Amino acid sequence: MRLRVDRDLCIGAANCVAIAPLVFKLDQEGKSVIIKKDGSASSDLTEYVDLNEKDAELILEAAKSCPTLAIYVYDDDGKQIWPEIK
Ligand code: SF4
Repeated sequence: MRLRVDRDLCIGAANCVAIAPLVFKLDQEGKSVIIKKDGSASSDLTEYVDLNEKDAELILEAAKSCPTLAIYVYDDDGKQIWPEIK
């Protein structure tokens, strides 16, 4: 699974942080960043490998909770899962 945050859309509502605090946090600008395995964090496209189903669902739930649809989620093949493309 890959995900990124559109910083222009993020309003710092922190729903994502409340749902998945091990994956998202707010940076000093009050924008959501994705916590990487090495402890660094950024809003850029980040890959999570070997996610179990529960964690993948939690990340998707966090993305769906965002009021401005600022969190983009892609599958391992790069296909956008969220927001849904109609
Ligand atoms: S829920 Fe959306 S708007 Fe709120 S901090 Fe997360 S990405 Fe930003």
